[in-house]
Amino acid sequence: MIPVSFEFYPPKTDDQREQLDRTVSRLRSHAPDYVSCTFGAGGSTLSYTADTVRRLLQDHGLDAAPHLSCVGGTRAEIAELLDQYRALGCRRLVALRGDLPSGMGHPGDLRYAADLIGFIRERHGAHFHVEVGAYPEMHPQAEDALTDLRHFKAKVDAGADGAITQYFYNADAYFHFVDAVRALGVEVPIVPGIMPISNFAQLRRFSEQCGAEIPRWITKKMQAMGDDAGAIREFGADIVARLCRRLVDGGAPALHFYTLNLAKPTQAVLARMA
Ligand code: FAD
Repeated sequence: MIPVSFEFYPPKTDDQREQLDRTVSRLRSHAPDYVSCTFGAGGSTLSYTADTVRRLLQDHGLDAAPHLSCVGGTRAEIAELLDQYRALGCRRLVALRGDLPSGMGHPGDLRYAADLIGFIRERHGAHFHVEVGAYPEMHPQAEDALTDLRHFKAKVDAGADGAITQYFYNADAYFHFVDAVRALGVEVPIVPGIMPISNFAQLRRFSEQCGAEIPRWITKKMQAMGDDAGAIREFGADIVARLCRRLVDGGAPALHFYTLNLAKPTQAVLARMA
């Protein structure tokens, strides 16, 4: 069976916390290698991230990786957070630049994710296994695709152990990206990020923001299904499972699922792959 990891966002209310507990209990039967927890823009949910990571580690007994960004933060703030995660027992991090919320001025002491990785290695050596973000369809702010690949390589040169991609629905984008970075000498595992489809309107909004392309034929079929939630779920699970199978057959080393704190859409994909 292909190794899997699951990504969650930090719950803020008791109801959301209970929902995450149920989701984690259901998904743990798939024996994830690790789980990760996102952060919100501008540090607003950093304490929720730390609290969720603590619960995933201590209450659920899972290897849990906080996502950590450098944008808008000072060296001292990031150093304190790293110490806090280490004290909690974290051995993994997902290190990102993040995005500044509009209107927020100061870019922070560390400008790009590569600077953050250098900082983590400087302070903690090899203690943390560090994953970084990768963009098979190019990061939306990148100057051009080739420059973006070089910037990706800089993160690996700074000490990243592996990468998780932005989600995509076109397997060739992933294969091409892997070939291109291997040609630049990058050897770390590049794990596809998989977004199961549950709410298509929400997915279209996310995709516009992060530059992920939804193929036209998928949009057209989804639109034709209108409000038929059952048909959308079935079709979504079929195409994402087929994507995963192609990725695994083509050499993807693992799959990282963006769960949005829901168990069923991810389980539907994994059930079709069994
Ligand atoms: P970087 O690798 O620093 O790159 C950002 C941009 O800068 C790219 O366009 C790159 O080409 C360019 N660049 C890099 N270095 C240089 C340089 N030296 N000179 C000029 N340009 C340069 N966001 C959240 O808010 N919370 C999360 O929890 C979160 N989790 C994520 C998890 C994954 C797996 C992924 C793929 C993304 C996640 N994001 C998250 C989104 C991420 O924060 C954004 O995509 C952000 O815009 C870029 O972060 P990065 O680490 O990829 O940046």
